[in-house]
Amino acid sequence: MSDNYLNVVDVEATCWEGTPPSGQVNEIIEVGVCVLDLDAGQRVARRRIMVRPGCSRVSDFCTRLTGITQDEVDAGVDFGTACAILRDELSSRSRPWASWGDYDRKQFQRQCSPGGAPYPFGGRHTNAKAIFAQSHGMRKRLGMSQALEHAGLALEGRHHRGADDAWNIAALVIHLLRRGGWPSR
Ligand code: AMP
Ligand code: MG
Repeated sequence: MSDNYLNVVDVEATCWEGTPPSGQVNEIIEVGVCVLDLDAGQRVARRRIMVRPGCSRVSDFCTRLTGITQDEVDAGVDFGTACAILRDELSSRSRPWASWGDYDRKQFQRQCSPGGAPYPFGGRHTNAKAIFAQSHGMRKRLGMSQALEHAGLALEGRHHRGADDAWNIAALVIHLLRRGGWPSR
């Protein structure tokens, strides 16, 4: 039986103030997921998968931005395992998914490109940032925190933590669902 759930996904990645140090690239270190029941318009689950990067390290800059430390990601799973968890425990191949902007989707595509882990998602991705702008008749696409403010919603938890961002983005999707602005599948 197919459910009517949406996986709202937000990733954090290794980052630096400027360009990456030689030999390092941006890699996913946290996958936050909030599962939304589209029929009930309710958040029904929340997951955080910490991911050990293969060829980069968590800089002090990245820790200040996200709160994530190298110790925390050392205790995480590798990227391939994170993809398998998404597929096996969060039905990511069959469920539609959404994120704020296209960064998250593109980062998965980069890390899953030939030779990498199999891409864990199906084809139904919605850019909630674009839909929010469209539904509010805005030319400018707002960042997540500005969008929450615009919608009169509180930012819960810590911005730039994947699981909290996914939770808050899911609140924005519910806001869009209620005003009839979320595209039906
Ligand atoms: P976010 O979902 O907004 O927390 O951002 C996802 C990822 O984008 C972060 O984990 C960083 O890798 C990168 N990022 C976001 N904001 C910045 C920034 N101001 N400077 C450098 N990297 C950033
Ligand atoms: Mg985030």
